[in-house]
Amino acid sequence: MPVLRVALDLPLHRLFDYLSPAAGAADVGRRVKVPFGRGERIGVIVAVVDDSAWPVAQLKQAGEILAEPAPLPDDFFALCEFASNYYQAPFGEVVLQALPAGLKRLTPPERRAGRARKAPPALAQPALTAEQAAAIGKVTVDGGFSANLLFGVTGSGKTEVYLRLVEQVLALGRQVLLLVPEINLTPQLEERVRGRFPTREVVSLHSELAEAARERNWLAAFGGQAEIVLGTRLAVFTPMPRLGLIIVDEEHDPSFKQQDGMRYSARDVAVVRARQAAIPILLGSATPSLETWANAEGGRYGRLDLKARANPEARLPAVHVIDTRRLVLKEGVSAPLLAAIRERLARREQSLVFLNRRGYAPVLACPACGWVSRCQRCAANLVLHLADRRLRCHHCGFENGIPRACPTCGNQDIHPFGRGTQRVEEWLQGEFPEARILRVDRDAVKSRKQWEAVLERIHGGEADILVGTQMLAKGHDFPRLTLVGVLGADAALYAADWRAPERLFAQLMQVAGRAGRAELAGEVLIQTQYPDHPLFAALVAQDYPGFAAAQLKEREQAGFPPYAFQAVLRAEAPAMAEAIAFLEQAAALPVIGEHDQVMLYDPVPMKMARLANLERGQLLAESYSRPALQTFLPRWRAAIDGLKAGSKLRWHLEVDPLEL
Ligand code: ADP
Ligand code: ZN
Ligand code: ZN
Repeated sequence: MPVLRVALDLPLHRLFDYLSPAAGAADVGRRVKVPFGRGERIGVIVAVVDDSAWPVAQLKQAGEILAEPAPLPDDFFALCEFASNYYQAPFGEVVLQALPAGLKRLTPPERRAGRARKAPPALAQPALTAEQAAAIGKVTVDGGFSANLLFGVTGSGKTEVYLRLVEQVLALGRQVLLLVPEINLTPQLEERVRGRFPTREVVSLHSELAEAARERNWLAAFGGQAEIVLGTRLAVFTPMPRLGLIIVDEEHDPSFKQQDGMRYSARDVAVVRARQAAIPILLGSATPSLETWANAEGGRYGRLDLKARANPEARLPAVHVIDTRRLVLKEGVSAPLLAAIRERLARREQSLVFLNRRGYAPVLACPACGWVSRCQRCAANLVLHLADRRLRCHHCGFENGIPRACPTCGNQDIHPFGRGTQRVEEWLQGEFPEARILRVDRDAVKSRKQWEAVLERIHGGEADILVGTQMLAKGHDFPRLTLVGVLGADAALYAADWRAPERLFAQLMQVAGRAGRAELAGEVLIQTQYPDHPLFAALVAQDYPGFAAAQLKEREQAGFPPYAFQAVLRAEAPAMAEAIAFLEQAAALPVIGEHDQVMLYDPVPMKMARLANLERGQLLAESYSRPALQTFLPRWRAAIDGLKAGSKLRWHLEVDPLEL
């Protein structure tokens, strides 16, 4: 009797066998209802075989095999298999996380057809600059796998390069997958893509879509009707029968990394997918990740440069550093920055004050006894939010009212310390009562609708000063914006996290790129106590290659990625001792002795040692050889699976972690 080998969404590294008398090879890739425990589940048939490692008498009968949609194809399974092996994630979890929620329900909800879209306004395409034309000329869309880094300064017209390549691929009758870091960026890009290809079917895939819409779009991609799929990281696994090109925009962005559940890098999976599918992939950025840059420098990726802004009128902004060591700051703002904002107001131009910290102040404290507002559940302070009068934990969501007096000593004179966007906004409003100030952070802008409204206000000239976090740094064109002031950048300069400079540089380049996008020249003023820091020198010169070379040299000397390869085992338990004890057992497993190219560090508490009432420890495994690490990991993971202590706490492995 035929036996189905079924992938289920369970944290177990195995498939499940069921009997199915009428099943045949044509059912591979179909969904099936199977009994599991006391209930029923949806699984995916990975193979139909005629024997089982289990006694046949013990196998249960599978339920209905679902005819629709068509079976998932081999290349989908091949990609899932890669991700499962590389990231040490159970195959069933990988397969099922790639499906839209509706396809995982036993009783699918009624679905109505989607609303027809009104045709977008068609866009006139611009003549290519010489640099754009050269970049496009270097990509062969029908010549098999190639990986290229499109290294272009902000405003250099990377999107135009994407669109021209998309056009070539569509002309071949193939589909395109365009990945973007965040849904915030999709509306503008979506409009541009639809406007350029008004007769083509364009769908988006991201987490803010309603379940029905996501399923519809996923099915359109899978069915081949959708010719362009615009999505965030979760879209990378979407099966597409005629995929001809993958583009990853802002490839350096940390949001391509999934930080929970199955921890994977959508950018890296995209490169593997392109290789498996024998198609080109294009990675675009003004500040590539150092991993990608090293790949380009090493010749594994091609490099296409766009050095100038596409609009000849729009020059790159001038970047200056304000040495704050001898200046008196008012609410963190220096007189030169204030004067620059005043000038913009007089000229009816826009300014942006960038501070990557939301809330009013990062902590409320009592100067008399030293009390500070701490989260009861995390190793973190509660952030003061004056707008709605709350103290809030930015890590676990815990919140509380603001005490009238110090809870420890009763002192009524408790103060906010430090500053966030709300405080800067409030103070600037006092300085410039006539100015229209718009705060843009995750408190003020929570949904895509609000985001669209904010963008409309900015574009319509309804704001004079923007105060915002990195939300404002990405991808947007603000033609009237001519000044960017940066506050609070120093914290990242000497952070313990060795990736902090890379992130800071990218963020400041991105935010600087908002200024001077149109005919009006832009200026960027960065306040710092370390005006001589090489990172600022590189920013002033807008010299990413110089910065990257210096960083890579440091990393090579220190033996950090991309010159070493890492995986981290993390454990969470009510008490740190428990977590560390488990990690110590994992570090003492005999299998480790058989892999001398892999080094294990000592188990340590994580930087955020306590989150939502759980204490967290980690154990880093490292090797100078990726294959050596990859050979070690499945064996180590299997041995850890066998540890009794592991069943009493939560643990996971993360490969290529971005944060340690
Ligand atoms: P990037 O993605 O590199 O930041 P964009 O693709 O958004 O840059 O382009 C920046 C601006 O330049 C946009 O307003 C775009 O319409 C314009 N642009 C792009 N290519 C050209 C071109 N060849 N000629 C004129 N304008 C262009
Ligand atoms: Zn006190
Ligand atoms: Zn908390």
